[in-house]
Amino acid sequence: MRLPSPQAIDRFSSGVDASVRASVYEGTRVPTEWRREILARDYEQPDVLRKLAAQVKQHTMDHLEDYLVKAEQALLANGAEVYFAETVDRAKSMALEVLQRENAKTVVKSKSMLTEELHLNSFLAQHGIECVETDLGEYVIQIDDDVPSHIIKPIVHKNRRDIAKSFEREGLGAYNDDPETITRRARVHLRKSFLRADCGMTGANFVSAESGRIVLVTNEGNARWCTTAPRLHIVMVGIEKLVPRDKDLGLFLNLLARSAVGQQLTVYTQFVNGPRSIGKDGPDKMVVIFVDNGRSEVLGSDYREILRCIRCGACQNVCPVYRQATGHAYRATYQGPIGAVLSPLLGANDFEQLADLPKASSLCGACNEVCPVDIPIPNLLLRLRDRAFREGAGMAKKGTPPMAPWAWLATHPGAWRSALTMANAVPMKAAPVPAMHRWLGTRELPAMKGGAFRRWWRKHQKADS
Ligand code: SF4
Repeated sequence: MRLPSPQAIDRFSSGVDASVRASVYEGTRVPTEWRREILARDYEQPDVLRKLAAQVKQHTMDHLEDYLVKAEQALLANGAEVYFAETVDRAKSMALEVLQRENAKTVVKSKSMLTEELHLNSFLAQHGIECVETDLGEYVIQIDDDVPSHIIKPIVHKNRRDIAKSFEREGLGAYNDDPETITRRARVHLRKSFLRADCGMTGANFVSAESGRIVLVTNEGNARWCTTAPRLHIVMVGIEKLVPRDKDLGLFLNLLARSAVGQQLTVYTQFVNGPRSIGKDGPDKMVVIFVDNGRSEVLGSDYREILRCIRCGACQNVCPVYRQATGHAYRATYQGPIGAVLSPLLGANDFEQLADLPKASSLCGACNEVCPVDIPIPNLLLRLRDRAFREGAGMAKKGTPPMAPWAWLATHPGAWRSALTMANAVPMKAAPVPAMHRWLGTRELPAMKGGAFRRWWRKHQKADS
């Protein structure tokens, strides 16, 4: 195992604005506390619940081919069209073909990390199709030409003053950072977009293979607009979003809302059965595009457990590296512990380019402890680090210093004691280790306290003898 390069460390930790870091800290602290409280309050053994959810999801992944066929049959029976896209390019061109065929020029979007993964908005814009994000956070991202930094809270890196400035710039009213005013202005503005859109595009939190039901959870109600007002509804969904039966949904919906935002249930939970049937509301046409983008390959690999993920974001909220580095440092659609595993593996991404992400972890295990589907993220990170090392990918290739000097020091007690004495006497910034200088340039480290344990130990040995 090698040390990461100073540049890689720098990329992960420096240059983050203090206000951004404060927003991320607060934005992740609150849901973590609420999650802990609500799980302890509502369940005697929340751990049993998440083990059960892991079992259901793993079973689904182990039989994914069968469940995909079942879901397709159910969706077709419900009146939807169903397509499968293996690659990002194919997924994008399928969405475009459907929109062009249906003469749809404007799209309102909700609840889709997958379309972020595909970079669909810019692709459709190149073909003259306008997409408007309607989740408030995603809308702010769109008008700011920014990228999401959290899978549940895309603008966790911003505060209300940032948003108020963006709204003022976009002509949505004079500067006002009152959250209610911001929300009201967004609602008035987005309502016009819902009413003029030809197509509503959503992802799916879950798809029931049994009934073909598309399940969407939001706290803003915008997905309802997207799935009911426009004449066309396109669902872009990863193949791993399946659950076998409708009755499994109770388990996942209870876990998802509590893990994501510490709520008992998300405010709006929608079960979309298909397009409009005679005399009822809804779109004339519904099209479901299942997207692979490397997931099948992950399924056949040592990292398959990551496909159990239900995108709750709880692992991001507790990760000390994510909270310090913030989401943009990950340079990928999925950030934090989930992203450090998933992002390098996705088909459209280059493993070499993102092979440093699994190293952005202290391996403290908090991500696994909070994961509602019990994904062994630290183990997966270690396996990916091993792969990166074997393939010479990412930092492993760049000739970073080997661990040998450290190993020698750690196995020679005399030298170790001398090093501790030196470290106590010489400030870290003055240490003759050039590779550390850049890293230390952005930090104030606490005073070195090495040797205290040894002194304590010696004292107790003497007292015992
Ligand atoms: S890995 Fe687990 S904790 Fe992290 S987003 Fe996925 S389901 Fe949530």
